[in-house]
Amino acid sequence: MAGQASGDHAGALSALAWQVAAGADEALDDTPRNRLIAAKEPAPEPEARPAAPVNALTPTNALIDHARAAAEAADSVAALAAAVAAFDGCALKKTAKNTVFADGNPQADLMLIGEAPGAEEDRRGLPFVGKAGQLLDRMLAAIGRDRDSAYITNMLFWRPPGNRSPSPEEIALCRPFVDRHMALVRPRLVVCVGGISAKALLDRTEGITRLRGKWYEIAPPGCEAIAATAMFHPAYLLRQPAQKRLAWRDLLAIRDKLGESTAKHEKK
Ligand code: URA
Repeated sequence: MAGQASGDHAGALSALAWQVAAGADEALDDTPRNRLIAAKEPAPEPEARPAAPVNALTPTNALIDHARAAAEAADSVAALAAAVAAFDGCALKKTAKNTVFADGNPQADLMLIGEAPGAEEDRRGLPFVGKAGQLLDRMLAAIGRDRDSAYITNMLFWRPPGNRSPSPEEIALCRPFVDRHMALVRPRLVVCVGGISAKALLDRTEGITRLRGKWYEIAPPGCEAIAATAMFHPAYLLRQPAQKRLAWRDLLAIRDKLGESTAKHEKK
């Protein structure tokens, strides 16, 4: 326990009582230690310990390695879904009601990748089923698509509390699964839905206004390059309906890129 300022007995007792009331009710060492300068002291000898389970105390890089190994071991979309559901390395899983993996047709040539589940998605365990998702469905319908002819997922598989933006660590932790997801589905076109997805998947720093409406390639490990583009997130379009004009332009470009005039949704 830390040393006391008062030299007299009563003063020491009352300082001790104050510390106990504050929760410092157990001695960690025989002698007091100033932990503010602990960093300058030599590091203690490492103890031999059993391998720790993967949890919130595991360093992020080790968790990413674990995610990558689990993702790479998955040889089908169903196996990947099971690997994501079994992954305990992302703390968001603790606060989420459900793992939200994907919806739609994994055989489709069009794969849309959004940001993260919201409240409704978390409740139902499906991506894009809230208000923004309903708008996304209408946007897809405008180019003759639905969830039988498109495949929909997110960068994150668990809802960030309060719908806050995903942290870079959370994105990095889920990324091996997203990469494997694209490699297993091998769509003809990936559409990054919104700025978070676009910046991460296209590895760019510009905002969505600059990134949308252009063509890119994404090369997930172990997979040939996949054509990609970006468009505004439907949640943004609900707040800024004037931008639907540009979103409509992007949808037509997506339709043309996929050769929708043939009304076929088969992969090459
Ligand atoms: N926003 C997203 O990016 N994904 C969802 O699944 C729902 C809302």
